[in-house]
Amino acid sequence: MPGFEIFGAEERKEVMDVLETGVLFRYGFDGVRKGRWKAKTFEIELAERMGVAYGHLCASGTAALSIALAACGVGAGDEVVVPPFTFVATVEAVIYAGAVPVFSEIDDTLCLDPKSLESVITDRTRAVIPVHMCGAQARIGEIKAVCDRHGLILIEDACQAFGATLDGKALGTFGRMGCFSFDAVKTVTCGEGGAIVTDDQALYLKADAFADHGHDHQGSDRGAEGHEILGTNHRICELNAAVGLAQLRKLDKILEIQRTHKNTIKTALKQCPSITFRHIPDDAGDSATFLSFMLPDESTAREKTAKLAASGVDGCFYWYGNNWHYLRQWDHLKQLSSAARLPLELLENRPDYRKIHLPKSDALMARTLSMQIKLSWSEQAVERRIRSMIDILKD
Ligand SMILES: *Cc1c(COP(=O)(O)O)cnc(C)c1O
Repeated sequence: MPGFEIFGAEERKEVMDVLETGVLFRYGFDGVRKGRWKAKTFEIELAERMGVAYGHLCASGTAALSIALAACGVGAGDEVVVPPFTFVATVEAVIYAGAVPVFSEIDDTLCLDPKSLESVITDRTRAVIPVHMCGAQARIGEIKAVCDRHGLILIEDACQAFGATLDGKALGTFGRMGCFSFDAVKTVTCGEGGAIVTDDQALYLKADAFADHGHDHQGSDRGAEGHEILGTNHRICELNAAVGLAQLRKLDKILEIQRTHKNTIKTALKQCPSITFRHIPDDAGDSATFLSFMLPDESTAREKTAKLAASGVDGCFYWYGNNWHYLRQWDHLKQLSSAARLPLELLENRPDYRKIHLPKSDALMARTLSMQIKLSWSEQAVERRIRSMIDILKD
Protein backbone atom coordinates (compact mmCIF):
# COMPACT_ATOMS: atom_id res chain seq x y z
CA MET A 1 0.00 0.00 0.00
CA PRO A 2 -0.58 2.44 -1.59
CA GLY A 3 -1.55 0.98 -4.95
CA PHE A 4 0.25 3.78 -6.82
CA GLU A 5 3.52 2.06 -5.95
CA ILE A 6 2.82 -0.38 -8.76
CA PHE A 7 1.35 1.93 -11.40
CA GLY A 8 2.42 0.71 -14.85
CA ALA A 9 1.44 0.20 -18.46
CA GLU A 10 -1.96 -1.21 -17.43
CA GLU A 11 -3.12 2.03 -15.80
CA ARG A 12 -1.76 4.08 -18.72
CA LYS A 13 -3.60 1.94 -21.26
CA GLU A 14 -6.95 2.31 -19.50
CA VAL A 15 -6.50 6.09 -19.26
CA MET A 16 -5.52 6.36 -22.93
CA ASP A 17 -8.65 4.39 -23.86
CA VAL A 18 -10.67 7.20 -22.33
CA LEU A 19 -8.62 10.06 -23.74
CA GLU A 20 -8.88 8.59 -27.23
CA THR A 21 -12.65 8.95 -27.18
CA GLY A 22 -12.64 12.19 -25.22
CA VAL A 23 -15.67 11.00 -23.23
CA LEU A 24 -14.90 11.73 -19.59
CA PHE A 25 -18.51 11.37 -18.47
CA ARG A 26 -19.51 7.96 -17.16
CA TYR A 27 -23.04 8.12 -18.57
CA GLY A 28 -24.35 8.55 -22.11
CA PHE A 29 -22.42 9.63 -25.22
CA ASP A 30 -23.07 6.12 -26.55
CA GLY A 31 -22.28 7.06 -30.13
CA VAL A 32 -18.75 8.34 -29.59
CA ARG A 33 -17.41 6.32 -26.68
CA LYS A 34 -16.55 3.26 -28.78
CA GLY A 35 -18.06 0.93 -26.22
CA ARG A 36 -15.66 2.09 -23.49
CA TRP A 37 -17.35 2.21 -20.10
CA LYS A 38 -14.68 2.35 -17.41
CA ALA A 39 -16.90 3.16 -14.41
CA LYS A 40 -19.51 0.60 -15.45
CA THR A 41 -16.87 -2.09 -16.04
CA PHE A 42 -15.23 -1.33 -12.69
CA GLU A 43 -18.62 -1.74 -10.98
CA ILE A 44 -19.26 -5.11 -12.59
CA GLU A 45 -15.80 -6.44 -11.73
CA LEU A 46 -16.03 -4.99 -8.21
CA ALA A 47 -19.35 -6.71 -7.48
CA GLU A 48 -17.98 -9.97 -8.84
CA ARG A 49 -14.82 -9.72 -6.76
CA MET A 50 -16.76 -8.88 -3.59
CA GLY A 51 -19.31 -11.60 -4.21
CA VAL A 52 -22.29 -9.23 -4.13
CA ALA A 53 -25.04 -8.37 -6.56
CA TYR A 54 -24.32 -4.65 -6.96
CA GLY A 55 -21.51 -2.12 -6.85
CA HIS A 56 -21.74 1.59 -7.45
CA LEU A 57 -18.67 3.70 -8.05
CA CYS A 58 -18.56 7.29 -6.75
CA ALA A 59 -16.28 10.24 -6.18
CA SER A 60 -14.73 9.25 -2.84
CA GLY A 61 -14.98 7.06 0.24
CA THR A 62 -16.62 9.97 2.03
CA ALA A 63 -19.20 10.19 -0.78
CA ALA A 64 -19.75 6.42 -0.46
CA LEU A 65 -20.60 6.85 3.23
CA SER A 66 -22.97 9.74 2.45
CA ILE A 67 -24.64 7.72 -0.30
CA ALA A 68 -25.03 4.67 1.96
CA LEU A 69 -26.59 6.74 4.75
CA ALA A 70 -28.97 8.40 2.28
CA ALA A 71 -29.94 5.16 0.52
CA CYS A 72 -30.64 3.52 3.89
CA GLY A 73 -32.80 6.47 4.87
CA VAL A 74 -30.59 7.53 7.78
CA GLY A 75 -30.70 11.24 8.50
CA ALA A 76 -32.28 14.01 10.53
CA GLY A 77 -31.77 13.38 14.23
CA ASP A 78 -30.94 9.67 13.92
CA GLU A 79 -28.17 8.43 16.14
CA VAL A 80 -25.40 6.56 14.36
CA VAL A 81 -22.83 4.64 16.37
CA VAL A 82 -19.23 5.07 15.22
CA PRO A 83 -15.81 4.19 16.67
CA PRO A 84 -13.41 6.90 17.91
CA PHE A 85 -10.55 5.38 15.88
CA THR A 86 -11.23 6.02 12.19
CA PHE A 87 -10.50 8.63 9.60
CA VAL A 88 -12.61 11.68 10.52
CA ALA A 89 -14.58 11.25 7.25
CA THR A 90 -16.79 8.61 8.87
CA VAL A 91 -17.95 11.16 11.42
CA GLU A 92 -18.27 13.97 8.87
CA ALA A 93 -20.56 11.84 6.68
CA VAL A 94 -22.88 11.23 9.64
CA ILE A 95 -22.92 14.91 10.61
CA TYR A 96 -23.65 16.17 7.09
CA ALA A 97 -26.44 13.61 6.77
CA GLY A 98 -28.07 15.55 9.62
CA ALA A 99 -27.56 12.63 11.99
CA VAL A 100 -25.83 12.39 15.36
CA PRO A 101 -22.53 10.53 15.73
CA VAL A 102 -22.46 8.52 18.95
CA PHE A 103 -19.09 7.15 19.99
CA SER A 104 -18.53 3.71 21.41
CA GLU A 105 -15.34 2.03 22.62
CA ILE A 106 -12.96 -0.01 20.49
CA ASP A 107 -11.47 -3.34 21.60
CA ASP A 108 -8.21 -5.21 20.98
CA THR A 109 -9.10 -5.46 17.26
CA LEU A 110 -8.73 -1.62 17.24
CA CYS A 111 -12.28 -1.60 15.88
CA LEU A 112 -15.74 -1.11 17.38
CA ASP A 113 -16.31 -3.24 20.49
CA PRO A 114 -19.61 -5.12 20.11
CA LYS A 115 -20.24 -5.07 23.88
CA SER A 116 -19.67 -1.35 24.20
CA LEU A 117 -21.84 -0.82 21.12
CA GLU A 118 -24.75 -2.47 22.87
CA SER A 119 -24.38 -0.14 25.85
CA VAL A 120 -24.77 3.09 23.82
CA ILE A 121 -27.94 2.10 21.94
CA THR A 122 -30.96 4.31 22.66
CA ASP A 123 -34.42 4.52 21.12
CA ARG A 124 -32.99 7.10 18.68
CA THR A 125 -30.25 4.78 17.35
CA ARG A 126 -30.81 3.97 13.65
CA ALA A 127 -27.50 2.72 12.33
CA VAL A 128 -24.04 1.50 13.18
CA ILE A 129 -20.90 2.15 11.14
CA PRO A 130 -18.05 -0.09 12.23
CA VAL A 131 -14.73 0.73 10.57
CA HIS A 132 -12.37 -2.06 9.56
CA MET A 133 -9.27 -0.05 10.46
CA CYS A 134 -5.78 -0.50 9.08
CA GLY A 135 -6.62 -3.32 6.71
CA ALA A 136 -8.12 -5.91 9.06
CA GLN A 137 -11.42 -7.05 10.51
CA ALA A 138 -13.68 -5.69 13.19
CA ARG A 139 -15.63 -8.35 15.13
CA ILE A 140 -18.20 -7.94 12.41
CA GLY A 141 -20.20 -11.12 13.12
CA GLU A 142 -20.83 -10.02 16.70
CA ILE A 143 -21.53 -6.43 15.64
CA LYS A 144 -24.05 -7.66 13.08
CA ALA A 145 -25.73 -9.81 15.74
CA VAL A 146 -26.17 -6.71 17.95
CA CYS A 147 -27.60 -4.77 14.98
CA ASP A 148 -30.01 -7.59 14.14
CA ARG A 149 -31.15 -7.89 17.75
CA HIS A 150 -31.92 -4.16 17.95
CA GLY A 151 -33.20 -3.65 14.40
CA LEU A 152 -30.31 -1.34 13.46
CA ILE A 153 -28.94 -0.68 9.99
CA LEU A 154 -25.37 -1.92 9.55
CA ILE A 155 -23.17 0.08 7.16
CA GLU A 156 -19.51 -0.97 6.98
CA ASP A 157 -16.74 1.55 6.48
CA ALA A 158 -14.27 -0.73 4.69
CA CYS A 159 -12.36 2.19 3.16
CA GLN A 160 -9.11 0.92 4.67
CA ALA A 161 -9.82 -2.76 4.15
CA PHE A 162 -10.34 -3.26 0.44
CA GLY A 163 -9.62 -6.89 -0.42
CA ALA A 164 -9.76 -8.08 3.20
CA THR A 165 -12.07 -10.95 4.15
CA LEU A 166 -13.41 -12.70 7.23
CA ASP A 167 -13.77 -16.47 6.87
CA GLY A 168 -13.60 -15.98 3.11
CA LYS A 169 -16.34 -13.32 2.93
CA ALA A 170 -15.31 -9.83 1.78
CA LEU A 171 -15.34 -7.05 4.38
CA GLY A 172 -17.96 -4.57 3.28
CA THR A 173 -20.48 -7.33 2.47
CA PHE A 174 -21.69 -8.17 5.99
CA GLY A 175 -24.02 -5.21 6.43
CA ARG A 176 -26.73 -3.65 4.29
CA MET A 177 -24.09 -1.61 2.50
CA GLY A 178 -20.32 -1.50 2.46
CA CYS A 179 -18.18 1.54 1.61
CA PHE A 180 -14.75 1.65 0.00
CA SER A 181 -12.26 4.40 -0.79
CA PHE A 182 -9.85 4.49 -3.72
CA ASP A 183 -8.26 7.80 -2.77
CA ALA A 184 -4.62 8.58 -3.53
CA VAL A 185 -3.17 6.56 -0.62
CA LYS A 186 -5.48 3.56 -0.39
CA THR A 187 -4.80 -0.10 -1.27
CA VAL A 188 -6.32 0.39 -4.72
CA THR A 189 -6.15 3.97 -5.87
CA CYS A 190 -7.68 5.89 -8.71
CA GLY A 191 -6.70 9.33 -7.42
CA GLU A 192 -10.12 10.15 -6.04
CA GLY A 193 -12.83 7.53 -5.93
CA GLY A 194 -14.98 5.30 -3.80
CA ALA A 195 -17.71 2.70 -4.02
CA ILE A 196 -20.65 1.15 -2.25
CA VAL A 197 -21.59 -2.50 -2.51
CA THR A 198 -24.85 -4.19 -1.58
CA ASP A 199 -26.99 -7.24 -2.28
CA ASP A 200 -30.19 -5.23 -2.04
CA GLN A 201 -31.50 -4.07 -5.41
CA ALA A 202 -33.75 -1.34 -4.00
CA LEU A 203 -30.86 0.13 -2.00
CA TYR A 204 -28.58 -0.05 -5.01
CA LEU A 205 -31.07 1.79 -7.23
CA LYS A 206 -31.48 4.51 -4.60
CA ALA A 207 -27.70 4.84 -4.23
CA ASP A 208 -27.20 4.98 -7.99
CA ALA A 209 -29.82 7.70 -8.35
CA PHE A 210 -28.83 9.69 -5.26
CA ALA A 211 -25.23 9.96 -6.45
CA ASP A 212 -26.36 11.60 -9.71
CA HIS A 213 -29.09 14.13 -8.89
CA GLY A 214 -31.75 11.43 -8.80
CA HIS A 215 -31.34 10.34 -12.44
CA ASP A 216 -32.69 6.79 -12.71
CA HIS A 217 -30.31 5.84 -15.56
CA GLN A 218 -33.00 4.02 -17.49
CA GLY A 219 -32.31 4.12 -21.22
CA SER A 220 -29.53 6.10 -22.83
CA ASP A 221 -31.30 9.41 -23.39
CA ARG A 222 -30.39 11.46 -20.34
CA GLY A 223 -33.07 14.00 -21.10
CA ALA A 224 -35.79 11.37 -20.85
CA GLU A 225 -34.74 9.83 -17.54
CA GLY A 226 -37.01 9.82 -14.54
CA HIS A 227 -36.21 11.45 -11.19
CA GLU A 228 -38.04 9.83 -8.33
CA ILE A 229 -35.76 11.28 -5.68
CA LEU A 230 -33.62 14.32 -5.07
CA GLY A 231 -29.95 13.58 -5.05
CA THR A 232 -26.63 15.31 -5.43
CA ASN A 233 -23.46 14.88 -7.43
CA HIS A 234 -21.11 12.21 -6.11
CA ARG A 235 -20.14 10.95 -9.58
CA ILE A 236 -16.76 9.58 -10.54
CA CYS A 237 -15.03 10.63 -13.76
CA GLU A 238 -14.09 8.04 -16.40
CA LEU A 239 -10.39 8.94 -16.08
CA ASN A 240 -10.32 8.04 -12.41
CA ALA A 241 -12.39 4.93 -13.00
CA ALA A 242 -9.93 3.86 -15.72
CA VAL A 243 -6.99 3.97 -13.30
CA GLY A 244 -9.03 2.13 -10.68
CA LEU A 245 -10.01 -0.60 -13.11
CA ALA A 246 -6.36 -1.41 -13.86
CA GLN A 247 -5.60 -1.32 -10.13
CA LEU A 248 -8.51 -3.60 -9.21
CA ARG A 249 -7.09 -6.21 -11.57
CA LYS A 250 -3.84 -6.06 -9.55
CA LEU A 251 -5.54 -6.57 -6.18
CA ASP A 252 -4.41 -10.16 -5.74
CA LYS A 253 -0.83 -9.19 -6.46
CA ILE A 254 -1.04 -6.28 -4.00
CA LEU A 255 -2.44 -8.51 -1.26
CA GLU A 256 0.18 -11.18 -1.84
CA ILE A 257 3.09 -8.73 -1.55
CA GLN A 258 1.66 -7.07 1.57
CA ARG A 259 0.95 -10.39 3.27
CA THR A 260 4.43 -11.72 2.55
CA HIS A 261 6.17 -8.60 3.92
CA LYS A 262 3.91 -8.39 6.95
CA ASN A 263 4.28 -12.05 7.81
CA THR A 264 8.09 -11.87 7.61
CA ILE A 265 8.23 -8.82 9.88
CA LYS A 266 5.63 -10.03 12.36
CA THR A 267 7.29 -13.43 12.73
CA ALA A 268 10.64 -11.76 13.41
CA LEU A 269 9.16 -9.33 15.95
CA LYS A 270 7.75 -12.18 18.03
CA GLN A 271 11.19 -12.32 19.68
CA CYS A 272 10.49 -8.91 21.29
CA PRO A 273 8.75 -9.78 24.56
CA SER A 274 7.54 -6.25 25.32
CA ILE A 275 5.27 -5.94 22.29
CA THR A 276 1.87 -7.51 21.70
CA PHE A 277 0.00 -7.53 18.42
CA ARG A 278 -3.41 -6.22 17.51
CA HIS A 279 -5.96 -9.04 17.67
CA ILE A 280 -6.91 -10.03 14.13
CA PRO A 281 -10.03 -12.25 13.98
CA ASP A 282 -8.88 -13.94 10.75
CA ASP A 283 -5.18 -13.64 9.86
CA ALA A 284 -5.65 -15.23 6.45
CA GLY A 285 -8.12 -12.50 5.45
CA ASP A 286 -6.04 -9.55 6.69
CA SER A 287 -5.24 -7.25 3.75
CA ALA A 288 -1.94 -6.60 5.56
CA THR A 289 -1.69 -2.91 4.79
CA PHE A 290 -0.42 -2.24 8.32
CA LEU A 291 1.27 -4.08 11.15
CA SER A 292 -0.21 -2.78 14.41
CA PHE A 293 1.32 -3.54 17.79
CA MET A 294 1.14 -2.37 21.36
CA LEU A 295 3.89 -1.34 23.77
CA PRO A 296 3.51 -1.79 27.55
CA ASP A 297 2.53 1.85 28.24
CA GLU A 298 2.16 5.31 26.72
CA SER A 299 5.62 6.63 27.56
CA THR A 300 7.30 3.56 26.05
CA ALA A 301 5.12 3.88 22.95
CA ARG A 302 6.09 7.53 22.51
CA GLU A 303 9.77 6.77 23.13
CA LYS A 304 9.82 3.87 20.63
CA THR A 305 7.94 5.89 18.00
CA ALA A 306 10.62 8.59 18.17
CA LYS A 307 13.46 6.05 18.07
CA LEU A 308 11.99 4.21 15.08
CA ALA A 309 11.65 7.47 13.16
CA ALA A 310 15.18 8.58 14.10
CA SER A 311 16.67 5.30 12.89
CA GLY A 312 14.99 5.51 9.49
CA VAL A 313 12.15 3.03 10.11
CA ASP A 314 9.62 5.21 8.31
CA GLY A 315 5.85 4.85 8.02
CA CYS A 316 5.16 4.19 11.72
CA PHE A 317 2.04 5.97 12.94
CA TYR A 318 1.29 6.85 16.56
CA TRP A 319 -2.41 7.59 16.07
CA TYR A 320 -2.99 8.76 19.65
CA GLY A 321 -0.80 11.76 18.90
CA ASN A 322 -2.25 12.69 15.51
CA ASN A 323 -5.36 14.76 14.94
CA TRP A 324 -6.89 12.93 11.95
CA HIS A 325 -7.60 9.41 13.11
CA TYR A 326 -8.52 9.50 16.77
CA LEU A 327 -11.22 11.41 18.61
CA ARG A 328 -8.91 12.71 21.36
CA GLN A 329 -7.58 15.56 19.23
CA TRP A 330 -10.62 16.27 17.07
CA ASP A 331 -11.01 19.76 18.51
CA HIS A 332 -13.09 20.89 15.52
CA LEU A 333 -15.66 18.21 16.34
CA LYS A 334 -15.57 18.97 20.05
CA GLN A 335 -16.29 22.64 19.29
CA LEU A 336 -18.73 21.71 16.49
CA SER A 337 -16.88 24.14 14.29
CA SER A 338 -17.71 23.99 10.61
CA ALA A 339 -18.01 26.40 7.72
CA ALA A 340 -21.68 25.45 7.57
CA ARG A 341 -24.34 25.83 10.24
CA LEU A 342 -24.69 22.22 11.31
CA PRO A 343 -28.04 20.44 11.68
CA LEU A 344 -26.47 18.93 14.80
CA GLU A 345 -26.66 22.31 16.54
CA LEU A 346 -30.47 22.03 16.52
CA LEU A 347 -30.65 18.51 17.94
CA GLU A 348 -31.32 18.01 21.63
CA ASN A 349 -29.95 14.44 21.56
CA ARG A 350 -26.51 15.67 20.54
CA PRO A 351 -23.85 14.60 23.02
CA ASP A 352 -21.38 17.13 24.38
CA TYR A 353 -18.40 15.95 22.35
CA ARG A 354 -16.00 17.77 24.68
CA LYS A 355 -17.00 15.44 27.48
CA ILE A 356 -16.85 12.06 25.81
CA HIS A 357 -14.92 9.64 27.95
CA LEU A 358 -13.65 6.43 26.35
CA PRO A 359 -11.08 5.11 28.83
CA LYS A 360 -10.67 1.72 27.20
CA SER A 361 -10.02 3.19 23.76
CA ASP A 362 -7.63 5.78 25.22
CA ALA A 363 -5.67 3.11 27.07
CA LEU A 364 -5.35 1.04 23.90
CA MET A 365 -4.53 3.84 21.49
CA ALA A 366 -1.97 5.39 23.84
CA ARG A 367 0.08 2.18 23.52
CA THR A 368 -0.49 1.41 19.84
CA LEU A 369 1.74 1.90 16.84
CA SER A 370 0.94 0.94 13.24
CA MET A 371 3.55 0.46 10.57
CA GLN A 372 2.55 0.82 6.95
CA ILE A 373 3.48 -2.16 4.72
CA LYS A 374 4.86 -0.97 1.38
CA LEU A 375 4.65 -2.74 -1.94
CA SER A 376 7.97 -1.32 -3.09
CA TRP A 377 10.18 -2.87 -0.37
CA SER A 378 12.85 -5.29 -1.56
CA GLU A 379 13.66 -8.38 0.50
CA GLN A 380 16.85 -6.65 1.65
CA ALA A 381 14.90 -3.58 2.72
CA VAL A 382 12.59 -5.77 4.78
CA GLU A 383 15.57 -7.50 6.42
CA ARG A 384 17.20 -4.15 7.23
CA ARG A 385 13.94 -2.88 8.66
CA ILE A 386 13.60 -5.96 10.85
CA ARG A 387 17.12 -5.54 12.24
CA SER A 388 16.50 -1.88 13.13
CA MET A 389 13.11 -2.64 14.66
CA ILE A 390 14.39 -5.51 16.81
CA ASP A 391 17.25 -3.34 18.00
CA ILE A 392 14.77 -0.71 19.22
CA LEU A 393 11.95 -2.94 20.41
CA LYS A 394 13.84 -5.84 21.98
CA ASP A 395 13.67 -4.42 25.53
C1 LIG B 1 -9.93 7.19 3.49
C2 LIG B 1 -11.05 6.92 4.42
C3 LIG B 1 -12.33 7.46 4.24
C4 LIG B 1 -12.64 8.50 3.19
O1 LIG B 1 -12.24 8.19 1.93
P1 LIG B 1 -11.95 9.38 0.85
O2 LIG B 1 -11.95 8.62 -0.43
O3 LIG B 1 -10.62 9.95 1.18
O4 LIG B 1 -13.06 10.34 0.96
C5 LIG B 1 -13.33 7.08 5.10
N1 LIG B 1 -13.11 6.23 6.11
C6 LIG B 1 -11.89 5.71 6.34
C7 LIG B 1 -11.70 4.76 7.48
C8 LIG B 1 -10.81 6.06 5.52
O5 LIG B 1 -9.60 5.57 5.78
